[in-house]
Amino acid sequence: ETPRETHSFQAEINQLLHLVINSLYSHKEIFLRELVSNASDALDKLRFRSITEPELLGDQGALEIHILPDAEKGTLTIEDTGVGMTHDELVKNLGTIAHSGSREFLELLSQRGQKDVSLIGQFGVGFYSAYLVADRVEVVSRAAGPDSQAWRWTSEAKGTFTVEPAPRTTRGTAVTLHLKEDQKEFLDEWRLRQLITQYSDYVGHPIQLQVKKTTDVIDAQTGQKTVTTALETVNKASALWQRPKSELTDEKYQEFYKQLTHDFEPPLTWTHFKTDGNQQFTGLLFVPKRKPFDMDSSGKRRGVRLFVKRVFIMDDCEEILPPWLRFVRGVVDSDDLPLNVSRELLQDSAVVRSIRKHVVKKTLDQLEKLAKDKPEDYQTFWKNFGVTLKEGLAADSEQREKLGSLVRYESSSQEGLTSLADYVSRMKEGQQAIYYAYGESRKTLEGSPHMETLTKRGYEVLFMTDPVDEWAAQGLNEFSGKPLVSALQADLKIQATEEEKKQQEEHAKGLGPLTERMKEVLKESVREVRVSDRLTDSPVCLVLPEGGSPAFLERLLRENGR
Ligand code: ADP
Ligand code: MG
Repeated sequence: ETPRETHSFQAEINQLLHLVINSLYSHKEIFLRELVSNASDALDKLRFRSITEPELLGDQGALEIHILPDAEKGTLTIEDTGVGMTHDELVKNLGTIAHSGSREFLELLSQRGQKDVSLIGQFGVGFYSAYLVADRVEVVSRAAGPDSQAWRWTSEAKGTFTVEPAPRTTRGTAVTLHLKEDQKEFLDEWRLRQLITQYSDYVGHPIQLQVKKTTDVIDAQTGQKTVTTALETVNKASALWQRPKSELTDEKYQEFYKQLTHDFEPPLTWTHFKTDGNQQFTGLLFVPKRKPFDMDSSGKRRGVRLFVKRVFIMDDCEEILPPWLRFVRGVVDSDDLPLNVSRELLQDSAVVRSIRKHVVKKTLDQLEKLAKDKPEDYQTFWKNFGVTLKEGLAADSEQREKLGSLVRYESSSQEGLTSLADYVSRMKEGQQAIYYAYGESRKTLEGSPHMETLTKRGYEVLFMTDPVDEWAAQGLNEFSGKPLVSALQADLKIQATEEEKKQQEEHAKGLGPLTERMKEVLKESVREVRVSDRLTDSPVCLVLPEGGSPAFLERLLRENGR
């Protein structure tokens, strides 16, 4: 008698399973991509761990994925020789651990419906896509290592799953799908071949499909030729980024991107480069068309994957990509880092710093190119990631010049967004600076008295209406030799004509008693009262003194009761 345990699925996973198993989504084949991607991850993990623990490989060196259809039983098995899972990992990873991704994915489906089911892998719950095509799933797994024990996980996705000991003698995991009656097409050799090529061609491990072969041996009883099975490698199993650009078409890059990110849309743009000289590394970086769901969550994120000499090291290597480029996806493959590289080593490595510098430069170059060649695509980019990119202005002073050419703002004289370069090209004669103003919206800024002197002279003012702008634009002191000046600053340093100056002096004299009186009344609240030439229609306005703290700081301090 076997000791069989029964566990309940965590609540949100249970809801998710209910949705998946009853889904009418028409591209159910994505389950294969998800399970193959898990198998590939398990092989990557094993290969990485075996660098420091070679005994994990034992005498079973091959790292492979097998796809095994069984027409008689109506099952499809996806098997790998990867790290495998212990009893506790099976229980946690496949059902009991609460996952922010499952909740987010449920929300997405309830808002946007079935067509987004294929994004399931982006949310870190891709395994459950098995229930798009199966009504029962069995996972038999044995963790790598000399004295581990194999376990069988089974579930019909009705609230519970069971776990019991299983007789598997080799390392790795086999996921067996008991296909639903109407999903038997996934037993067909040609269908499977086509799916692997479409969805998993660039998986870095051989994917071997079990195929039937008719032999020349005649069966004595039936008088027919006997049929045997054989494993046939169907994918390329090569690192796409290592191939020369000349061999790669746009379609190939796009397919690779989709396999890497579980996105269903092609990327907006990409850059593929190899460095030589004293740093050897290859990069293939993509900018997605839409915002990845895990972009702003601090948990599991795919980000940029780091490889060392073709060996996968980690997902989301933060050390090679600054936070303000966190929307970038792709691969970096270094020839110089040691294989057993650790997080500490990454944080303190000259090689990594140089990679990062290059990655930033290549990404910004690519964005500049996009802005120039495909302005519409650049708008899409800006809409989704502009806010994130702007963080770089404050965070990375080295990149100010480049970022300055990439930022876009609303402006008093233009309808849509404008670049700083275009602003500069429209500057009036005698205009010394690029003027900008922070505010809640274009509307409030257009009506603001701070604008008057500037607009009177026909000077354009940039409207910075994004909450991040007040902080980010501080990093932007000048662009193409022109200083950026806030329209809220006291001394706008606008050159006045002799006549204007005289007029002003008389004005100030005449208003002397009034300003004195105002200073007295307001002495607790203002530093100074000054007659200014900046207003044309409004009687007064508040301005920042030179060196005064910006409005957002004041607001912050006020909110904190200072
Ligand atoms: P993700 O792959 O994004 O982590 P999944 O739902 O696809 O999310 O898988 C959940 C977890 O289950 C994985 O993180 C992994 O720990 C484990 N797992 C799934 N399939 C395998 C496998 N073939 N071998 C080892 N572990 C696996
Ligand atoms: Mg997965």
